[in-house]
Amino acid sequence: EDRLVSREEQGDDTLDNGMRPLRMADFIGQKQLRENLQIFIEAARKRGDALDHVLLFGPPGLGKTTLAQIVAREMGVGFRATSGPVVARAGDLAAILTNLQPHDVLFIDEIHRLNPAVEEILYPAMEDFVLDLIIGEGPAARSVRIDLPPFTLVGATTRSGLITTPLRERFGIPLRLNFYQPEELRLIVERGTRVLGIEMDEEGALEVARRSRGTPRVAGRLLRRVRDFAAVAGDGRIDRKIADAALLRLGVDPRGLDAMDRRYLHCIADVYSGGPVGVETLAAALSEQRDVLEEVIEPYLIQQGLLQRTPRGRMLTRGGYEYLGLTPPKGLER
Ligand code: ADP
Repeated sequence: EDRLVSREEQGDDTLDNGMRPLRMADFIGQKQLRENLQIFIEAARKRGDALDHVLLFGPPGLGKTTLAQIVAREMGVGFRATSGPVVARAGDLAAILTNLQPHDVLFIDEIHRLNPAVEEILYPAMEDFVLDLIIGEGPAARSVRIDLPPFTLVGATTRSGLITTPLRERFGIPLRLNFYQPEELRLIVERGTRVLGIEMDEEGALEVARRSRGTPRVAGRLLRRVRDFAAVAGDGRIDRKIADAALLRLGVDPRGLDAMDRRYLHCIADVYSGGPVGVETLAAALSEQRDVLEEVIEPYLIQQGLLQRTPRGRMLTRGGYEYLGLTPPKGLER
């Protein structure tokens, strides 16, 4: 299913890798995070050390992979990437770690999904740059210790709460990415138009930006779809009107919500009287994975003030009712 909003990269993202900024100076937004990271990079370079391990957390599509690549480039070191679910056995991780060059960046996406046995061999590797492996089985088993080159682990996760405490404590540099502001996304969209050779005016770019759920990956996707509409409908140059018409056709409303968001909000309103309702129940009612609700759909609805997570479950806010054109129940605070 080709959804505009999804957890994974889709084919067209990777095709247009030209949209990925390669240097810190081209990375738009996340100002404070960028400034801090730049200081740590400079200090590590001056000392001639590997950069301390970095943990990036934030919703999908905000630039975690991009930042990890930029870190390697700015440090002038190699970049290796894998992801939590891919590293199934301790031996897989051992093979990756022993192949690193000194100071290399190893990026592990979805690090919260590492299997516990694999995670455990990561602890001494991160802390002391050693690998403790058990060789053989039964009474003949013995442990061997292998020295590793100093390296930088960059871990990415969608929520810091998903990661175990011992793992989290081994990252010297934890950094949170936030949703982007429309003005920042406008710059990202404009950068995309240059890379893709699209003609679009500033108002058009801002319209795409406003409707991108605060997320650069979504902005890139919407930009490509709008381009397709414009190629068929207009004379090639995209202004606000064309962008708006294209986005409406794609089901993206003026607030950036899509059909799935509306289904989600309607489900709470219509089926569960506005909540509270548990996320498992909602996932079943919508035939969606719980992870997708929690990582992709809810963060933006919460940020937009339409939804609230409470200890008893999800609840529509007053804004949520108003968005749906319904009258909020009395006593519901803002
Ligand atoms: P994540 O790893 O957090 O899921 P990615 O790093 O893969 O996100 O970024 C998703 C897409 O958005 C990429 O195509 C990337 O080029 C673009 N992107 C992300 N952050 C920025 C940014 N700050 N400036 C410009 N483009 C960005």
